[in-house]
Amino acid sequence: MDTQVIFDDDSPREECGVFGIFGTTEASSMTYCGLIALQHRGQESAGIAVADGNRIRLKKGMGLVSEVFAPAEMRSLAGHIAVGHVRYSTTGTSMASNAQPLLVRHRLGQLAIAHNGNLTNAYDLRKQFEEEGSIFQTTSDTEVIAHLVAKSRGNSFQDSVVEALRKVEGAYALIAMSADTLVGARDPFGIRPLSLGRLNGMWVLASETCALDAMGAEHVRDIEPGEVVFVDHDGLRSVQAMEKQGDALCIFEYIYFARPDSDLEGLNVHAVRKDLGRRLARLFPVEADLVTGVPDSSVSAASGFAEEARIPYEMGLVKNRYIGRTFIQPTQSLREFDVKLKLNPLKRVIKGKRVVLVDDSIVRGTTMRHIVNLLRDAGAAEVHVRISSPPYRSSCHYGIDTSSPKELIASTKEVEQIRQHIGADTLHYLPLEQLLEAVGSGAAGHCLACFTGQYPVRVPAGTAKYVFEDSGDSAATAGGGGDDGAR
Ligand code: SF4
Repeated sequence: MDTQVIFDDDSPREECGVFGIFGTTEASSMTYCGLIALQHRGQESAGIAVADGNRIRLKKGMGLVSEVFAPAEMRSLAGHIAVGHVRYSTTGTSMASNAQPLLVRHRLGQLAIAHNGNLTNAYDLRKQFEEEGSIFQTTSDTEVIAHLVAKSRGNSFQDSVVEALRKVEGAYALIAMSADTLVGARDPFGIRPLSLGRLNGMWVLASETCALDAMGAEHVRDIEPGEVVFVDHDGLRSVQAMEKQGDALCIFEYIYFARPDSDLEGLNVHAVRKDLGRRLARLFPVEADLVTGVPDSSVSAASGFAEEARIPYEMGLVKNRYIGRTFIQPTQSLREFDVKLKLNPLKRVIKGKRVVLVDDSIVRGTTMRHIVNLLRDAGAAEVHVRISSPPYRSSCHYGIDTSSPKELIASTKEVEQIRQHIGADTLHYLPLEQLLEAVGSGAAGHCLACFTGQYPVRVPAGTAKYVFEDSGDSAATAGGGGDDGAR
């Protein structure tokens, strides 16, 4: 019987988490731990490549980290360098061949490569290579980078990587390795995060600092936009391979993607989210009996709202953490159950109460309407929705899977119309200036494109996923996750 992901929580989805380590014979086990800490960034597939100075071995597969790796297999992944990856993808591009790291052989040896993000010129590069006779085995942008490295005439692995990265455009945090060198790189705008850590002489690279914490590594700094670091037995070498084009870290890392215990740009994510909730409470107060957040990403903002408003915080919704990624394909009527299976209101807490419901974003509005309904069915007297970010109006082209613009409810409806659609008593979004104040930056300091439509990196028409959807290709998810499968 077919299985399919059906638990569509109507949130923007992070596509990937990357992890790398150099300098320990426990490299594969430590990467396993790092990937477990990054599991929230992708649950579809996981992979670890390990090098021992001579050869790279790879194990990857579909599923959670704990499903893909059995303890006995970890022992066969011996080596002192490792690269790991967790991936999210929608059903249409759910392919084992797209699991990362990607392992290839080229004239200078083996290359294992994993990345988080989306290359905006991948389509053009791929087309060019295919016209020249190249064969691609995956639909992933990562393979385009591998081809660029392989085609480079650089004299060394390092030169080839730098030359390849200078040819790609878009958003990426990349971790790669040869048989003896670990590489970490970030795009010139720094859209996707990548942190550098140190533990007992080892160097560690990870999408988020929570993965450094998981192994007790010290967070040294974030990799700079356009920077490439190489780690080998001579130590760490940093190259400003691409000119820095700006600071445009994805603002949604703060709002939704990153784990609350991670730090970004020196700020703790939980603290920022709590501040967003406080600001919402000051700007849009309401008389209520309790505040609750949509678990897990909105709990921090909800607790900030509750503290500021002096209204008790309550666990009004319980999340089922054990649903897993897949479910037997339901009939249309069973689809109605998916939100109920995932979130259950605590009736004894909710009944007869005026509830403030805090969430981080509304993408299409479907899930929020279900949740408001759940609260009303549980006996809520009033439901006041507060969103800890501005209206989400534009699709992401930098590695986040969102709906096409026409499906984004805020792109076609005003706030009052959205309120009516979701059935809330009141609805307010946090204004953009408040969000920017909370993260301590001006508009130039982050990518805000899903709120403003101003994309820091040029988005060629061919990379916009709705182009494919409009052409009738329902499997199109090319706008996110470095996956151009529908092109
Ligand atoms: Fe993040 Fe939105 Fe920019 Fe995409 S468009 S990188 S989700 S801020």
